[in-house]
Amino acid sequence: MKHNFGAGPGILPHEVLKQAAAAVIDFNGTGLSLLEISHRSPEFEAVLDEAVKLVKELFEVPAGYSVLFLQGGASTQFALAPYNLLPEGGKAAYLETGVWANKALKEAKFFGEVQVVATSKESNFTYIPKDYEIPADAAYFHITSNNTIYGTQLKQFPSSSPIPVVCDMSSDIFSRKVNVADFGLIYAGAQKNMGPAGVTLVIVKDDLLGKTGRKIPAMFNYQVQIEGGSMYNTPPCFAIYVSMLTLNWLKAKGGVEAIEKENDAKAKVLYEEIDRNPFFKAVAATEDRSHMNVCFVAANPEHEKPFLKLCDEKGIVGLKGHRSVGGFRASIYNALPITSVYVLIDAMQEFAEKNK
Ligand SMILES: *Cc1c(COP(=O)(O)O)cnc(C)c1O
Repeated sequence: MKHNFGAGPGILPHEVLKQAAAAVIDFNGTGLSLLEISHRSPEFEAVLDEAVKLVKELFEVPAGYSVLFLQGGASTQFALAPYNLLPEGGKAAYLETGVWANKALKEAKFFGEVQVVATSKESNFTYIPKDYEIPADAAYFHITSNNTIYGTQLKQFPSSSPIPVVCDMSSDIFSRKVNVADFGLIYAGAQKNMGPAGVTLVIVKDDLLGKTGRKIPAMFNYQVQIEGGSMYNTPPCFAIYVSMLTLNWLKAKGGVEAIEKENDAKAKVLYEEIDRNPFFKAVAATEDRSHMNVCFVAANPEHEKPFLKLCDEKGIVGLKGHRSVGGFRASIYNALPITSVYVLIDAMQEFAEKNK
């Protein structure tokens, strides 16, 4: 068995993979593959309805918000957020906490003025800037809840922002409780913590739409997607199905509150080992450490390769850090069991013992 610490597409629960594999051959006893039935069939419509229902239930989405399953990944939402929310001649505010945040603000520049309220670029994004003001004259404030590449995470969301908050939650969606009412728009590519690549979750506050004064092509228009129930065109049926199964798995585990406890426990034991073991060093500022992507380096850079080799021998995969940070990144998403974290900790201790 492998211990999958890959950053994305990330680990999915084994039960979910088994159910998904079975549905590829025979979907719910229909005698057809899930891959070959109409998206307008009652069987598939039930899947989409169930997926939307689970999102609303697990995230306690209040009335007045719509849940969409779209295509194009989080990177498409970098453009669709300003396309749908930033009025002609208007301004949007961004918190720059990494490469993804930077890509998001670059897309917004196609639609209007962008104000970067704070950045941690000068330190290669090892911390989350906290000393800034949200400009009241901007259309929205965009943040990234978890910075997948750098292992930093916003521990507190702006709860009294004078303008709607837009959040890229790609790499920590459903990993912890959030108050959806604090946001105007939440989006997340599925492949980190919710399902397979190919579908993107969007939760949008309905009354923010239709105010830009610009014409928006149908596929890029949230209002059109809401009216079409995420089926303006053929949706990514398989990715939605597997996301639905994963959300069901999460519900059976006790929901977001229960998984948050597990995620906290996994992060705690792993950071404790990194802090204790003189062969390793954490990368992110202590108060901003991510509970999803744990970034660390070898105290002696020459130990990097041999440690990865030891991990490989133990079935630990996906541990190599992003090329812009180096070192190691242990992604400990919802589906990764704590037993895998202990295997990694054992490897770190064994490595220290062998090299002392
Ligand atoms: C992976 C990731 C993205 C990019 O997602 P795509 O679905 O590949 O476009 C954006 N933001 C964050 C925080 C990510 O982790």
